[in-house]
Amino acid sequence: MRVWFFSMRQVLWWVFACLALGIFLGSGEIPFLPVSGGNTPLGISGRTIVIDAGHGGIDPGAVSAQGVLEKDVTLAISQELEYLLKRAAVYVVMVRRGDYDLADSSEVNLLNRKRQDLSRRVQIAEQAQADLYISIHANYFPSPIWSGAQTFYFEGSGQGEHLAKTLQTELVRHLGPNHRLARPGDFRVLRDTSMPAAMVEVGFLSNPREAALLSQTSYQKQVAAAIFSGILRYYGR
Ligand SMILES: [Zn+2]
Repeated sequence: MRVWFFSMRQVLWWVFACLALGIFLGSGEIPFLPVSGGNTPLGISGRTIVIDAGHGGIDPGAVSAQGVLEKDVTLAISQELEYLLKRAAVYVVMVRRGDYDLADSSEVNLLNRKRQDLSRRVQIAEQAQADLYISIHANYFPSPIWSGAQTFYFEGSGQGEHLAKTLQTELVRHLGPNHRLARPGDFRVLRDTSMPAAMVEVGFLSNPREAALLSQTSYQKQVAAAIFSGILRYYGR
């Protein structure tokens, strides 16, 4: 009995000592725990995302009545989006960084230039083995009454459709009321890319109010933030 009593005290002492040591070591380790992990966009860090700024160079895309060029709007928003994604440790591949298209300078036929340009955009994404392809464009319609951002995906693309729908939700949430829905669209950059891809039509250059907004840096940043938020949500954050 005496031996048993003594060993019990010994056990209790060790239990107490281990607990004390654990608390001590634990408190020492707390600063090294990822306490701010909840704010880190882990879902997108390390991904490769292609940003395709629509048009460029000889191809201005849509032109508003006030002279706002689609190619300028798409590039500005793409650069803002690049900044946000890089801050979240995403590897960004920009299809273009300036006012040019991707066709050979010797190619003078406009239709051939466009074909070459689009196939090279796809090629860049495939070579980069990108995780996501985001194409940025602005809309235009003969009537000036239509407005609102809208996303497109390739029919039957599954993940592309999910991406476009998630982006659409965030565009509406960030940019104000808009009853538009993500729609299927047979665009080459959506059809020929093997990774989930979506096209964002950031608004209508045929609508004077939206064209004016789209030419402002503050609004371009808002659009980029909405797309960024959509990408975060797509990756489940
Ligand atoms: Zn366009």
